[in-house]
Amino acid sequence: MNSTATDLRDPECIFCKIIAGEIPSERVHEDEQVIAFQDLSPKAPVHLLVVPREHHRDVRDLADRPELLAHVVQIASRVASEQADGDFRLIFNTGANAGQTVFHVHAHVLAGETLPEGEM
Ligand code: 5GP
Ligand code: ZN
Repeated sequence: MNSTATDLRDPECIFCKIIAGEIPSERVHEDEQVIAFQDLSPKAPVHLLVVPREHHRDVRDLADRPELLAHVVQIASRVASEQADGDFRLIFNTGANAGQTVFHVHAHVLAGETLPEGEM
């Protein structure tokens, strides 16, 4: 059987619930492949999350989906231009030791001022 996006949903996953509209979010972009919304605890003047609709654990899994990964980057760039000056920091926390807390792959887009060096 072919795998579809709806197969790739985890009923326990908070981002799958946000994508389904079961948990509210401040969306700034949505299309067939990804949504982008404001982070609940912003770490910069603009702090958005770009999230593939399909449930994948982390960015390592997106290495097998280069077109989807490229689309995430494209949308990160677009929302950074719409919400800030177009410059942005793109972060994929990958694994608990790297600070990942939601295990549905997402790109943090940080923008809106001269960002400090180093940690997010
Ligand atoms: P991670 O630590 O996994 O890289 O990032 C998870 C991010 O999701 C955190 O920055 C956290 O603030 C954000 N987050 C967690 N739960 C929610 C939520 O229910 N709504 C929104 N908008 N962001 C969330
Ligand atoms: Zn999910």
